[in-house]
Amino acid sequence: MKLLVTGGAGYVGSVCAKVLLEAGHSVTVLDNLTTGNREAVPAEATFVQGDVPDMASEILADGGYDGVVHFAARSLVGESMEVPEEYWRDNVVATLGLLEAMRRHEVTNLVFSSTAATYGEPEQVPITEDMATNPTNPYGATKLAIDYAITSYAQAHGIGATSLRYFNVAGAYGEVGENRDVETHLIPLILQVALGHRDKIFIFGEDWPTPDGTCVRDYIHVRDLAHAHELALETNRPGSHRIYNLGSGDGYSVREVIDMCRTVTGHPIPAEVAPRRAGDPATLIASSRKIMEELGWDPQYTDLETIVTDAWAFTSQLGDRAHSARRARTVTPSR
Ligand code: UDP
Repeated sequence: MKLLVTGGAGYVGSVCAKVLLEAGHSVTVLDNLTTGNREAVPAEATFVQGDVPDMASEILADGGYDGVVHFAARSLVGESMEVPEEYWRDNVVATLGLLEAMRRHEVTNLVFSSTAATYGEPEQVPITEDMATNPTNPYGATKLAIDYAITSYAQAHGIGATSLRYFNVAGAYGEVGENRDVETHLIPLILQVALGHRDKIFIFGEDWPTPDGTCVRDYIHVRDLAHAHELALETNRPGSHRIYNLGSGDGYSVREVIDMCRTVTGHPIPAEVAPRRAGDPATLIASSRKIMEELGWDPQYTDLETIVTDAWAFTSQLGDRAHSARRARTVTPSR
């Protein structure tokens, strides 16, 4: 297939672009490089720097495109609470424009990068796709709004789409992995401690209603996640919008993740308990049974040790180069 991958210079987008190229697809990456890295875009992809939807529309106007994989988005929960208007503009308004561009240029196959944040605080785990969606922050709300818009486009205009609701994506695929200017995610932060770029990791609360008092999350390897996008593209049917959760089905506490990082890196990784982070649910675990049964998704890298080992191989080779570049830009984390 000839594919447009928006946000293909970001973490998940660049791994997906690589996996799709390896599967024999042709890939054009569109990314404005606000948070993405040009060097993460696979050499075999065509790269266009620009925004969704205007540049996406120009690219699709060239003709011959079979599908769109849409990653480009703002994705920091804390930031979304501070500047929600930017999330509604860059996520929802931009995606409405992309849907119109697809309609105009008769491209009907879409895979959308959605999130577990659409569910908010779950009533029970594991979370299935038929459970209530009550996002607790604008990030989750904008992704849910887009899911609704896609359903309408599928019904009225024949788009064939799949929304994939990611749980905690981690790991790396060779030379592509997590490398953000503003890092807020647990595993890359812990690995920065192991590299000596941070003194310690803060544990956000140890009084949660979980076995060891720290939050429990479902970590999914980015390669397994990427493969799900490939399956979705191959099976989308005009007029239908499917929604699937993507996780491993196993929950690990913050303390368990830190311990695994100690084992894998051989570093003591000092940790200190800090207050709870606003908006964090205690436990998030996915049921991915639906995508396994319907699409035959068969994750290969489900154990936490493999996820951390691959992330560590990536982070340690990135090393001081990325750290110096990050320092030079002096950014302030928003969460
Ligand atoms: N977390 C933590 N310290 C950190 C970053 C994250 O204790 O420095 C916790 C966070 O409260 C959550 C889990 O680690 O329970 C995973 O957080 P992350 O930001 O990686 O993903 P999220 O679950 O928010 O999507």
